[in-house]
Amino acid sequence: MNNYCELAVPGVQSLTPYQPGKPIDELKREYGLQKIIKLASNENPLGPSPMAIDAIKSQLNELARYPDGNGFELKKKLALIHNLQPSQITLGNGSNDILEFVARTFVSANDEVIFSQHAFAVYPLVTQAIGGTICEVPAKDWGHDLAAMLDRITDQTRLIFIANPNNPTGTWLTKDELTDFLRKIPKTIIVVLDEAYFEYAHSTEMGFSEYPNGMDLLADFENLVVTRTFSKAYGLAGLRVGYGVSNIGIADLLNRVRQPFNVNSLALAAATAALDDQDHISKSVLLNKQEMQALINAFSALNLSYIPSAGNFICFDLGYDAAPIYIELLKQGVIVRPVANYSMPNHLRVTVGTAAENKIFINALNQILK
Ligand SMILES: *Cc1c(COP(=O)(O)O)cnc(C)c1O
Repeated sequence: MNNYCELAVPGVQSLTPYQPGKPIDELKREYGLQKIIKLASNENPLGPSPMAIDAIKSQLNELARYPDGNGFELKKKLALIHNLQPSQITLGNGSNDILEFVARTFVSANDEVIFSQHAFAVYPLVTQAIGGTICEVPAKDWGHDLAAMLDRITDQTRLIFIANPNNPTGTWLTKDELTDFLRKIPKTIIVVLDEAYFEYAHSTEMGFSEYPNGMDLLADFENLVVTRTFSKAYGLAGLRVGYGVSNIGIADLLNRVRQPFNVNSLALAAATAALDDQDHISKSVLLNKQEMQALINAFSALNLSYIPSAGNFICFDLGYDAAPIYIELLKQGVIVRPVANYSMPNHLRVTVGTAAENKIFINALNQILK
């Protein structure tokens, strides 16, 4: 037997693996570089709250024990913050876990799943793996074309993914646009509203006054699942913890497909503690606002167009194949993210770093393009 691909289920045969940002150590090995900055995976450059680190340390003596499979403390705190029942919450090993639970719970082979062109790569991944049919709707001005997505609905549609803001484009939907869309969706179709960058987009600091809070929409739309994560503004990407919020019935189903101990004990402790440090979130969001402006100024000075972003990352347009520029940046020790796999071959996505990191990136870019 030499071709196990033939034995794989059809959806897996045609899957292309998710392409993560290049790891720092890999670049060190390949180019013999010492100093490297990574602006490729939308991580918080300030890291997590010190309170989260302390909580992890205090858990270290308990590592022989299984974690609390129900995540009681974390759910209790989230329920309090969002004014929900703990039974509405599903905890995930990253919010990607939740995206997969929803697909596995509601989508059978050949059922249709709708999402936008240039939307987050995990949507096609979880759809295809279970044999679902991908319905990718062409984007409008790089963002979701909600009218076209509505038109795409058929009797086979089971699930719609909406990223607000979207990664990698950073585009966002206003509250009116989103609620108008949700009102027109049959209640038998599940809508996942992916709010991985909520903390950034929500902040009035960023100036997006019309940006909706998915938690406020749950009461009106029983088919809605809102996902959030501790990987981005909370700076805990390495621990893998996120959550979904929905009506109790849906949460019960999602919790049935969940592995019993999908969120580890350090992640539970850190996330619970991190919620208490909203100063750290404010600080992170303020830095993002200031440094996003610094990047925009640099792009303007270089005559590069960019896609305005509500997240902690931004795509800029070179106007030609961006792959060689990505490589030149790597050689200078700067890792950004190519987005050719999102059908954006002329763009690169850069995560907003610290002032020092962004300066290094801007200097490198200036040198390469001069
Ligand atoms: C980063 C990201 C996530 C979150 O991933 P985790 O599994 O929580 O680390 C979800 N959706 C989008 C659009 C993202 O960019």
